[in-house]
Amino acid sequence: MIKIVAPNTHKEEIRYLCETIFKDFLGIEYNLFFEKRGNYKISFNDKYFILENVLFKNYESYLVSESIPKEIDYIEETPIIYGKNYWEIISDNNIIEEKNCYKKIKVGINENIYCGLDIFGSIFFMLSRFEEFLISSYDQFNRVTSQNMLSIKFGFEKKAVVHEYLEILWNLILNLDSSFSKKDHKFKFIPTHDIDHLYFWKDYNFFITRLKKCLFKYKNFKQAYKEICSYFLVRIKLKKDPYDKIDYFINKSEEIGVKSIFYFLVGQHCDKDADFDLKKLKRYLEKIKEKGHVIGLHPSFLSCEDINILKNDKEILENISQNKITFSRQHYLRFNVPHTFIDLESIGILNDSSFGFTDRVGFRTGCCYSYKIFDFINKKTLNLYEHPLIVMDGVIIEMNKEKAKKEIFEVMDEVKKYNGQMVILWHNSSFEVDKWEKFQELYSEIIEEVKK
Ligand SMILES: [Zn+2]
Repeated sequence: MIKIVAPNTHKEEIRYLCETIFKDFLGIEYNLFFEKRGNYKISFNDKYFILENVLFKNYESYLVSESIPKEIDYIEETPIIYGKNYWEIISDNNIIEEKNCYKKIKVGINENIYCGLDIFGSIFFMLSRFEEFLISSYDQFNRVTSQNMLSIKFGFEKKAVVHEYLEILWNLILNLDSSFSKKDHKFKFIPTHDIDHLYFWKDYNFFITRLKKCLFKYKNFKQAYKEICSYFLVRIKLKKDPYDKIDYFINKSEEIGVKSIFYFLVGQHCDKDADFDLKKLKRYLEKIKEKGHVIGLHPSFLSCEDINILKNDKEILENISQNKITFSRQHYLRFNVPHTFIDLESIGILNDSSFGFTDRVGFRTGCCYSYKIFDFINKKTLNLYEHPLIVMDGVIIEMNKEKAKKEIFEVMDEVKKYNGQMVILWHNSSFEVDKWEKFQELYSEIIEEVKK
């Protein structure tokens, strides 16, 4: 069994990292010990390697803005959040070679390695999102602005950087003993759907407002004719409402043998919340249950500010669906780290999928495996898994279809490279209406790509 000897500070963070990295991600057993030391020593029989420790050595409390790096080093293309690209090969306690630029280091029988990267600190930075606790600029919905996140400042948000660190670490482990084998992850496409609105044609008044806009504001008579047809065909049940896509999603998921997760918005506390009669959900919920797909909660706009709202939303959905709800994603991806997640755990949610960018495709956590969330205020691992969101449809709205497709496929290739989870959010409202018209076929093209 691998032996990890770690510095005796930040023990809870280090325990969390060892469980996540070694047990959950790599699937190898280890024994963890703490002693007074500055770095991490990882050994097997009489071979070892040393990992630098920058984050926890320099910051007794890392919840200060100085702990966020101003500059970063690189090893080949991989950005190093903490530490530097500096390596030593050690034999009989003597340094026999100093180098930078290793990624796949290989040493002889009596040689050991010192690695200047703080792999633990860098992975902790990405997964815990403590960075977001320290950013104090917000957008119009009071969400942390992504422009201030390190991955965006240094342009590595489309890299699954945690997995790049894992590859470096795995290579170091193979130097301890080449017969180690790691957990076999499989690429998984996870389609998820936030149901913010149940119907496009909510009522007659909405139809009249749209019609007036087409006729008098835009003077677009062709569009007005289209909307009249759509409204009346839906009313006389000759056509489905443009947002009535739950059956469609179920069928698409079944084509590729996966389960969809539907997150339902049921809170009605402000104008960003559910705008439909909740009783109408019943038939969709029955269908989802019958087909074995997943019903999750989409906690309403103000839920991250008030745990009672969150609790109330969950109770409403549990009552209507007659189902225990354990999956959740925040509406508008509005959350506060770590408080929203502490609240989610306390009401019995076991799975969240809110860690995705609101304005671009990519890896907000640098990771495409599920992992447990760490509460860095109370220094405690939460019993709550994060399934990082990689693509949300809303981020492509201003792109043309080819560019959108390219971005989505590129990031999916990155997920495939690490046999990770491609969690995609496609709303039922992102097909036929307004700017979504040009993306009518895109969802099914993504499904075709997954089939390949
Ligand atoms: Zn939403």
